Amino acid sequence: MAKDIKASPEEITSVLKELIQKYEGKLDRRNTGVVLTVGDGICRVYGLDEVRYFELVEFPNNIYGIALNLEKDNIGIIVLGDDKLIEEGDIAKCTGRVVEIPVGKELRGRVIDALGNPLDGKGPIVAKAKRAVELRAPGVVERQPVRDPLQTGIKAIDTMIPIGRGQRELIIGDRQTGKTAIAIDTIINQKDTGVTCVYVAIGQKQSTVAQFVKALEEEGALDHTIVVSATASDPAALQFLAPYSGCSIGEYFRDLGEHALVVYDDLSKHAVAYRQVSLLLKRPPAREAYPGDIFYLHSRLLERAAKLSKEKGGGSLTALPVIETQAGDVSAYIPTNVISITDGQIYLESNLFYSGVRPALNVGISVSRVGSSAQNKAMKKVAGKMKLDLQQYWDLAKFAQFGAELDKATQAQLTRGQKMVEILKQGQYAPLPAEKQVMIVYAATNGYLDDIPNASIGKFEAEFYKFMDEYFAKLVSGLRDKKDIDEAFTGELKKAIEKFKQEFKT
Ligand code: ATP
Ligand code: MG
Repeated sequence: MAKDIKASPEEITSVLKELIQKYEGKLDRRNTGVVLTVGDGICRVYGLDEVRYFELVEFPNNIYGIALNLEKDNIGIIVLGDDKLIEEGDIAKCTGRVVEIPVGKELRGRVIDALGNPLDGKGPIVAKAKRAVELRAPGVVERQPVRDPLQTGIKAIDTMIPIGRGQRELIIGDRQTGKTAIAIDTIINQKDTGVTCVYVAIGQKQSTVAQFVKALEEEGALDHTIVVSATASDPAALQFLAPYSGCSIGEYFRDLGEHALVVYDDLSKHAVAYRQVSLLLKRPPAREAYPGDIFYLHSRLLERAAKLSKEKGGGSLTALPVIETQAGDVSAYIPTNVISITDGQIYLESNLFYSGVRPALNVGISVSRVGSSAQNKAMKKVAGKMKLDLQQYWDLAKFAQFGAELDKATQAQLTRGQKMVEILKQGQYAPLPAEKQVMIVYAATNGYLDDIPNASIGKFEAEFYKFMDEYFAKLVSGLRDKKDIDEAFTGELKKAIEKFKQEFKT
């Protein structure tokens, strides 16, 4: 077995060279090779002179690998599957293609591995189309600016950090801060919008992925979702491949002129899987022991998210990568890389999470660089001042902790801030349509909540929506269709809010 061998690949190469010389007549060295060593998911092959980077290599027993290291006397290959089925001396063959996976509508509602094999026991995948996992990202002329919103249904995000279709928005935070929860709610909110969602689970526990799938199913959101799963127990090669597979599945819809959303949960674990593979391939380690091309790894993946031009069909692929930080350290290697690649970041913080602010978004430092041009007019009008107000509130609140005496204006500002913090709290699995978000934000920013005790805000909100649906359905549907507000509308809304407040108090 491989693990007992102490000789270096170079030594074995020379021994095998002699042996192979005898076969040379029969064997085409350009497209075939002989396995020198195998172990830890890595295989070294002598021969394969014409193999290309990232090409799929075939071994006996229907096992495949990807050629990642093209060295002078051997080829380093990562094995996609059980490396125990490969033995030294086995023949490896070039296939002339890269890894391909099935794509298409048939995949909706399914859970698959990084190679497109079903994991959900719902029978074989009968997709008509196939697609390479690595493809060139669309160029500049093939794109157009992001201009349609991708509603997450999460108030804090849609109002202040809006995401557009075709954007790349990073979700970053420590462990257990609600990163995955944001992704789930966003996926649930795409129901009936025509956006196909792809969720790529990388290096997570199998039980966590199972819970995720169950939650989607219960919320009726699995029908428009495809889950690509490479769990912690899968070979590093599959974890490395999974995001590329998920991206290709999303791209298929983008290229049809449809819209897709892909979540990579998470790229920190993806980087770790790649580091493992690279170190086993004996590539020189760089910062934090990651290989030198780790930036390229993530940039070429995220660059594939795009809003295509009209000529190309106008489809879009939105990417929501997730990064887990250690103790809030966003200046570590992988976080800084991915921050610099994406068009905006949603920062989640543990102290907010534990103080009950959930989703635990730090509004002050979260940004969306392109999404605001995609935000609908009504939302833009009501939410414009909100972020600034909230930021001022956080600063004031810190100051007020010292028991300083506060003038009336400051106190009023604090009260207003508290109400806003309250309305931005939102439970899981409860995405809110845009028109309702506009109405509640309007009420808060115009002071209608100032006299409601903080503890009752949640109840106020829930009953307010019900009241509006019941008595002002026309106003609500008008807003939903027009997506804009004018003076006539705000006049009506004011009346409605006042009426509701009377009822709420009694
Ligand atoms: P991990 O680092 O383990 O991947 P994570 O950052 O993805 O964690 P989640 O798994 O999404 O975090 O959430 C952590 C916990 O917080 C879960 O139990 C989840 O139910 C809860 N949670 C997340 N968001 C909310 C919310 N808005 N309201 C209430 N509970 C929430
Ligand atoms: Mg998670």
